[in-house]
Amino acid sequence: MPSRPTRRPIAPSPRRWTLPTLLLLLLLAAAPPLAAQGRALTRWEEQARALLRELVEINTTHSVGNTVTAAEAMAKHMRAAGFPAEDVVVVETAPRKGNLVVRYRGSNRTRKPILLLSHIDVVEADPKDWTLPPFQFIEKDGTFYGRGVADDKDESAIHLTILLRMKAEGLVPDRDIVVALTADEEGGTSNGVDWMLQNRPELLRAEFAFNEGGGGRVEEGKRISNDVQASEKKVANFTVEATNPGGHSSVPRPDNAITQLAAALVKLGNHAQPVKLNEVTRAYFRRQAEIVGGETGAAMRALVANERDVAAAALLAKDPAHNSRMRTTCVATMLSGGHASNALPQRATATVNCRILPDESTEQVLQRLIAAVGDTGVKVTVARGARESPPSPLTAELLQRIEETTREVWPGMPVVPTMSTGATDGLYLRRAGIPVYGVSGLFYDQPNAHGMNEHVSAQAFYEGLEFMYRLVRKVSGPERPRM
Ligand SMILES: [Zn+2]
Repeated sequence: MPSRPTRRPIAPSPRRWTLPTLLLLLLLAAAPPLAAQGRALTRWEEQARALLRELVEINTTHSVGNTVTAAEAMAKHMRAAGFPAEDVVVVETAPRKGNLVVRYRGSNRTRKPILLLSHIDVVEADPKDWTLPPFQFIEKDGTFYGRGVADDKDESAIHLTILLRMKAEGLVPDRDIVVALTADEEGGTSNGVDWMLQNRPELLRAEFAFNEGGGGRVEEGKRISNDVQASEKKVANFTVEATNPGGHSSVPRPDNAITQLAAALVKLGNHAQPVKLNEVTRAYFRRQAEIVGGETGAAMRALVANERDVAAAALLAKDPAHNSRMRTTCVATMLSGGHASNALPQRATATVNCRILPDESTEQVLQRLIAAVGDTGVKVTVARGARESPPSPLTAELLQRIEETTREVWPGMPVVPTMSTGATDGLYLRRAGIPVYGVSGLFYDQPNAHGMNEHVSAQAFYEGLEFMYRLVRKVSGPERPRM
């Protein structure tokens, strides 16, 4: 095991400056960038920071950016470090849409590889909406700024650095380690993971993958837990519609499309889908109960013991995040109706967006919505059904590796399995039978991903690098030194 990076605080000398001190100061001025605590960066921290800087400064938005440029730029570093050309593959799926897959060959060809997945495309960033230039990497007061520093170029830089470091240290893993940097996670029509699974599945074949979606949880500036995302909810849209022959508004009829739709939406708003826990959310509530304690902790324990505990469910449901973890949720998100101010509405329509538990189906939810609107006279149909996303089995062995590594880097920090209420590219891999775990060890406090002045703590970035390096070594061993 490598030792933790040593922290060397540089204290100002209270005495007058002697010649050696001046020489030291001169040396420090020429030294690499300093981390938050004023210590010199390790070689690998510097490497990861340089890759992150380069990635941020290549615009990779869907509108005008170019992920081919970003993939090629990173490929160049890997080839320069001695990765053979056939193991550094840039896959271009459309103009300006590029993906990079780098393979570090292991000694045992019979073990399936592990995959480290991240995306190099970023959400749009209009400089007018930012007070800092979004495509310039800025480090100020121990914080990195720039589009992508939190989502997801930080993980791209970390994953590549792990391969560079293992290779430089002469460590040959017991299986291939594959790093994939992909396009169109945030939008666009050339999703890199989807495309490669369909057209070049051998590139992504793996026993399991680590991806975004998990990471350190920070609440009110305090580090709470290192979360492992093992499951995601599915998305489906439903249309609720009322139709009517209509007529002149000066002669209203008792039935009215807008009134009927409104009545149906009120019913849907008051309707809660049933509580249903799965392996991941049960583990989540069990561990979370220990962290929060008190009345909420007791309710979590009660719910795990009995899903039909109405009082416990009601108490937890007051927190929208807990509520969406324990059931499928549905909410009206769009509304339209009527065609003229002086005509009775012939049609009124609402879109209802549902986040469905991994083990429930679109059809089940549809039937519940139809029952919930009752006799309001509206029609409920599926606008877009959910794509299946089976939960990844959280094996005891993998969880143990993650816990060991967490304890090494942050003694006493609990590990909590989670189910995301949103969706990531993990969806495609899970559908292809490759389990995916959101794990990063990145403890970011309000990084404002997708928003203005996206930023992360430099120190948290470096700790995430160390955590992932150690974890990847643990799950790709036993390794042997290169002969
Ligand atoms: Zn992302």
